[in-house]
Order: sequence, then structure tokens, then C-alpha cells
Amino acid sequence: TQRTLVLLKPDTVRRGLVGEVLGRFEAKGLTLVALELRTIDGAQADRHYAEHVERDFYPPLRDFVTSGPLVALVLEGDEAVEVVRAINGATDGRKAAPGTVRGDHSLSNRENLVHGSDSPESAEREIAIWFPGL
Ligand code: ATP
Repeated sequence: TQRTLVLLKPDTVRRGLVGEVLGRFEAKGLTLVALELRTIDGAQADRHYAEHVERDFYPPLRDFVTSGPLVALVLEGDEAVEVVRAINGATDGRKAAPGTVRGDHSLSNRENLVHGSDSPESAEREIAIWFPGL
């Protein structure tokens, strides 16, 4: 079994899509291990997106993820990392396949509703940042 860190970003909360997105993970059979509604500051955003802080798309991304409450959660299940990324769809909502979270609800490359860890190693790093001690 495997764990992964998922964020329902501020656009998901603002648009009232938390239940709709969370329901997809639950319906798939993934187990909820931790969940918290949280508003993060820039320092927490920088820790989470350490690999992106130097990118030119990062400053607006940082503003976006600190713009309001988001939901952070940990899901567990067989191949949870890959399963969650398949449910989320491609990064760019304009290109994500219908049937995925982003494909069904996002028309943006930045405001793309969700985050899912990209590997088991990233998942452990991110879980330690968001839910230390878990
Ligand atoms: P996530 O890590 O959020 O699951 P991802 O792994 O599909 O998404 P990354 O390439 O790690 O995508 O980028 C992290 C986040 O940065 C994206 O989810 C998106 O919000 C934002 N982002 C990535 N590329 C761009 C871009 N070219 N323009 C604007 N925002 C971007």
C-alpha cells in the first residue's frame, strides 16, 4: 500500500467543489488518513513547491495557493500516487481528458483545482511538510 499527499487548492474551496472532488477519491476506494482545511502562508507554499520556487510561473502560483483556504489530505491505497494523478488528469485543465477532475472542471493551467504527489518519495516529503508526525 502507498500514501499520497493531495491538495484541494483554493479554487476548489471557492467554487464549492470539495465534496465533488473528495467523493471521487472515496468512490475509488482510497482511504482517508488525514484531512484539514488550512490557509497557508508564503513560507509553507515555498516548502511545498521547493522544486518550482525559481520558475517564472511560481510567483503567481504562490499568490494563488495562499489566496484562501485549501484542503490538505493524505490518501492511502494500492498505488495511491499513480491512481490519484490519473483521477486528477493532466496539469493543464484545457488539455486534461474529460472524466478527470481537471478535465471536467478546470480551464486553466494554474487554477487546476488539485495537487497530487508525483512519486512515493515526493509523497513522503510532502506528508512530512503538511502533517508532521503522521
Ligand atoms: P501538481 O503538482 O499540482 O499535482 P502537476 O504535477 O501536474 O501538478 P507541476 O508541473 O508539478 O504540475 O506544477 C505544479 C503546479 O504549478 C501546477 O499544478 C499548476 O498549478 C502550476 N503550474 C505548472 N506549470 C504552470 C504554468 N506553465 N503556468 C502556470 N502555472 C503552472
